[in-house]
Amino acid sequence: MKLKTPYYLIDEKKLLKNLKIIKYIRDYCGAKSVLALKCFSTWGVFKLMKKYMDGTTASSPYEARLGYEKFGKEVHAYSVGYSKEDIKEVGKIADTVIFNSVSQLKTFYSSVRTCKVGLRINPRVSYSHFDLADPARRYSRLGVVDKNSLSKVMHLISGVMFHFNCENDDLKTFSKHLDYITEQYESILKRLEWVSLGGGLYFTKADYPVKKFCRKLKEFSDRFKLQIYLEPGESAITQSAELVTTVLDIVKNQIDIAIVDASTEAHMLDLLIYRSQAKIREAGGGKYRYMIAGRSCLAGDIFGTYRFPSKLKTGSIIRFSDAAGYTMVKKNWFNGLKMPAIVVKRLNGKIDVVRKFEYKDFMTNLS
Ligand SMILES: *Cc1c(COP(=O)(O)O)cnc(C)c1O
Repeated sequence: MKLKTPYYLIDEKKLLKNLKIIKYIRDYCGAKSVLALKCFSTWGVFKLMKKYMDGTTASSPYEARLGYEKFGKEVHAYSVGYSKEDIKEVGKIADTVIFNSVSQLKTFYSSVRTCKVGLRINPRVSYSHFDLADPARRYSRLGVVDKNSLSKVMHLISGVMFHFNCENDDLKTFSKHLDYITEQYESILKRLEWVSLGGGLYFTKADYPVKKFCRKLKEFSDRFKLQIYLEPGESAITQSAELVTTVLDIVKNQIDIAIVDASTEAHMLDLLIYRSQAKIREAGGGKYRYMIAGRSCLAGDIFGTYRFPSKLKTGSIIRFSDAAGYTMVKKNWFNGLKMPAIVVKRLNGKIDVVRKFEYKDFMTNLS
């Protein structure tokens, strides 16, 4: 079958590699993992993912509902700011509701009596390469800072969430921060039933010391007799998808520029936000150098500059890797560009086109 570009291609076999590590951690040290839907919510592969994970965690009521309807198992709901309506919706479907502040907790805890209730804490330490994504940045609104106010509401909560990492592949800094948290929050942790350590831990990266990581987690959970949750987003789906495109034209302005039938702004937005270059596995070097650019009218719609072993031409296929996390969730209709279809390569090799988009989807996106 010849697929029409552009399309996102999720490969379940590659996904499975990550999921097996998640399950290993669960088996080895008891830490449960809930998928962070804000990173990845392509529910066409949830049937596979839910065999290896314990549920989902949401940053909004819609995400919570998606987790409830399409993933099942545990539904954790967090929001930086709940409205009264939000709480009504979330209270019906969530197992765990996590508040961002003491004031929101006090306002709403009595409306979510059937749920486990938690608070997000800002431990004022973090690991992130980007200020934009640093939860402990100056003036951060993410989580409770004041320990005194926290100790006054302990009777209302059974757990807390610390999300303090972003793409952390260094076990040493994680361990150091966990020790710091242990020391700083000892009296609080002793009184809780569960703690979520958030996401941002890159434990599915090649050569990550998974066993050591498990031992660290186990030491922590044993000490306080706690259920640990992890909230992996990126590490659950990393390296499992590609954005497949076709070269439409090659133009020259001092250098050769290949224009593909997709766009950074519309289809891989994080590249622009974090000023990074898309990854192309085939471009490992070679004589032929091209800038690969998108077809939106944004001047800086550039995937990157690469060397290829052979000349590109109109019709050449360009596959951008790592197109799952923070990519598909952010796609948008800028410029009215054709939206990449969503294709899944199942474990048995079968190719499923799970979603195609057409003009009507663009039109109905606004009114
Ligand atoms: C973003 C986020 C996650 C997932 O982070 P990843 O870096 O994708 O693992 C988990 N928990 C919370 C609270 C988050 O904000």
